[in-house]
Amino acid sequence: METTTDRQAVLVVTAAGSSQRMGGGAKKEFLRLPSGLSVLAGAIEPFVRSLTLCACVVTYKSGDHGALEQAHEAIRTSRLLRETFDGGGVPLILTEGGKDRQESVYNGLEALQAANIPNLASDTIVLVHDGARPFVTEPLIQKTFALACARGAAVPALEPSDTHKEIDENGKITRHLDRSRLAAVQTPQAFLFFPLLEAHRKARAGGKTYTDDTEIWNDYAAPVYTVRGEAANKKITYPADMPQEQQMIHTGLGYDIHRLIAGRPLLLGGVHIPFDRGEDGHSDGDVLLHAVTDALLGAAGLGDIGSYFPPSDMRWKDADSALLLRTAWQTVTEAGWRLGNIDCVVVLEAPKLLPYREHIRQSIADILGAERQLIFVKAKTREKLGEVGSGAAAEAYASCLLYK
Ligand code: MG
Repeated sequence: METTTDRQAVLVVTAAGSSQRMGGGAKKEFLRLPSGLSVLAGAIEPFVRSLTLCACVVTYKSGDHGALEQAHEAIRTSRLLRETFDGGGVPLILTEGGKDRQESVYNGLEALQAANIPNLASDTIVLVHDGARPFVTEPLIQKTFALACARGAAVPALEPSDTHKEIDENGKITRHLDRSRLAAVQTPQAFLFFPLLEAHRKARAGGKTYTDDTEIWNDYAAPVYTVRGEAANKKITYPADMPQEQQMIHTGLGYDIHRLIAGRPLLLGGVHIPFDRGEDGHSDGDVLLHAVTDALLGAAGLGDIGSYFPPSDMRWKDADSALLLRTAWQTVTEAGWRLGNIDCVVVLEAPKLLPYREHIRQSIADILGAERQLIFVKAKTREKLGEVGSGAAAEAYASCLLYK
């Protein structure tokens, strides 16, 4: 017995619309999805994965300078499609669309017929799909294809979620429709190829305008059957229909400890705090700025303070830690990261830090070019325990959140 997988399929993808509701400029089929694929490539890929295609036609907007090249470029954002069409021997035919959808599909069908595809047979199924429907799934394609193989014509349909009314030209409701008998049809719409081409030729000769291929098939061929559509199989119509890139959020953690010795200034967050001792260190020893620098570099996965400013390098002798932080932060922001917030704890037996807190927050904010509200600093003592508790050292912890 013949199975549907033996049946040949051809694909007609319409990308000839004007994208008026996208609000100017960008043609929706050529926009990029977060995956990097164009909308058009995203709409074609699932067909290549689920069927044995013997050709693919894409219609592009006629009279639009550059539309042909843009369509080629959009399709080739997909490696699978490059392999299929450029290397795999499946013909890709780009053909001018018409003044409306009906004429575009007709042009596509005629282009297939004219291309002399060797495998085109009397039982070949053509699937007509919107180039702006990139969320179509392989199961939906297979289901539609299988039913078209069995019955000659099939289309995915969904019960409308809104209540539909018929209205007249003045907007007055003229008919209340029974929702349980209504269906919103999607694409792909699948038909026997040659009968659909014949039906389109007759429809043209008849001069009537049709909304889609199911109506043409109904008038000139036979009934159309439905499979259950998928709510996610939306057509991109408005800018808000484009999926947004997922935001990335990273946290970072930094820690540092420095000895406190006489004859050095006590620097915390770039602020000089009057005291009889200060941090020992290769640089100026600002323990808080070092912890913040490590938190930011760590969150971005870009190393640590030691890998950028090694203590063995004489360039960083007595270096201003504010400069080190500013340099590290530039590397982080150049990688696309933005600051969520920073929270710090300084562990120090004396002096009291509270009087300097706002000054320290502002100083760190100024180094990063950030708002002070995004940076917080707390102080703790070590309750006289250990080296920090005896006043021999100062410690700092910093955590941060970055996003892009
Ligand atoms: Mg340090």
